[in-house]
Amino acid sequence: MKVSKRTLIRRTIIRGLLAMAIIVSVISVLSKNNLPAAATQDLPEPAVSPVKASPVPAQAVTPPFVPISRSTPGNDAAKVSAVTGKPAAAIVPLVQKKEQQKEQKKEQKTVYLTFDDGPSNVTPTVLETLRKQGVKATFFVLGEQAKSRPELINAIWEQGHAIGNHTYNHNYHDLYSGFTEFWNQIKQTEEVVREITGLRPQLVRAPGGTYGHFDATYFELLKEAGYTVTDWTVDSGDSKRKGVPAAEILRQSVASMKASSVILLLHDGAGHSESAKALPEIIARYKAAGYAFGVLDAGQEPVQFRVSAAAAASGRTKPSKAWIASNILPNAGLFAPGKPLALEVGMLEAKLEPGEFRIIEGQYMVPLRAVVERLGGQVGWNAASRSGSISWNGRYVSADAVKKRLTMTSDDGTTVYRQSNVEMMGDSLWLPLRELLEVTGHPLLEARVTGGERRVKAG
Ligand SMILES: [Zn+2]
Repeated sequence: MKVSKRTLIRRTIIRGLLAMAIIVSVISVLSKNNLPAAATQDLPEPAVSPVKASPVPAQAVTPPFVPISRSTPGNDAAKVSAVTGKPAAAIVPLVQKKEQQKEQKKEQKTVYLTFDDGPSNVTPTVLETLRKQGVKATFFVLGEQAKSRPELINAIWEQGHAIGNHTYNHNYHDLYSGFTEFWNQIKQTEEVVREITGLRPQLVRAPGGTYGHFDATYFELLKEAGYTVTDWTVDSGDSKRKGVPAAEILRQSVASMKASSVILLLHDGAGHSESAKALPEIIARYKAAGYAFGVLDAGQEPVQFRVSAAAAASGRTKPSKAWIASNILPNAGLFAPGKPLALEVGMLEAKLEPGEFRIIEGQYMVPLRAVVERLGGQVGWNAASRSGSISWNGRYVSADAVKKRLTMTSDDGTTVYRQSNVEMMGDSLWLPLRELLEVTGHPLLEARVTGGERRVKAG
């Protein structure tokens, strides 16, 4: 077909107008968007994304809550791009990504698998299933059980699941005779878990659920003390009586799959092997129904049952003002946000909010993607080898959580290995900040803590 010159000119003009419209909309989105993106996972991505080809690859799955990998590429990324003078092309994928995330958020249904009463001899089977299926869950553990099986608490933690507090001995009579007994058991269990993982569980689930057990005092004081009490929306029925068969547990667990958010109550305490047996199919059904799997987060608005008339009328004494002042009020400080970590690398600066980084044995541990991308580098993810590839400052580095090492590749193809405590935490790849800076050619110059922040300077 012959195309006239006039048609060609018209097409060129239309294309030009379209390009301008796209640039204008990109600029307006970047300037308007001050909201931090919801949980941006470092990982996973469906395939190997070569670092050079795709600066900010789209996310495969974005469950709304992935507490430890929250990052805010929005403003920071735009700022970084401006500073590094990257062409607009490098910014466009970020905008597309945000829009994809928004769309996913709208449609994304999430199920939170929760396991109560463990750890027990059932827990390893549950963990193995979750690992195989690539699914994270929340474990509400009993202090008594945790104390006798610390290795299982460790395993839960290392696999990136969330740990909540389910009191020490699960004895209703003790726990619901008065708040101070409940409190003592929470603190006792907290101490056991802290000794094993280094972290205090902030999530609390009441044995038997709050309904019929909690009065307003229980709810109020736990909240004031910094805890998030959470019940469930779907009961698998696995503790209705002894030995509920797997088929029945499955049926109850997937009875209604319409809700956009499901908190499913399951048990991994002793005697609950049928729950473990039902788990693979429960996961398969939720996956087939399009659900993402999330872990509960203390910052999330919790699902809580109401106070029953019986509990309200139980007449339990409220602890004294003095007791509250010395126990409840200072406790909240344990969970208060800490200082942010400012990273000053050359001319660039990025900030990690409290919760976005960890301090383990005196070392800053940071999420790879959040740090590198906010400082103008690029990160890819190789699902097969569970490693991340970094392109930053003209260097190419691969971070391998399985082999626990960093591999540096120079332009002539020679590689240098270095052992490093690269870790998968949740769905993100984390590594010691110092090592990340060193292998990417940013030697550490200074690390200090002031009144308002922590600051690390690198060359
Ligand atoms: Zn329980």
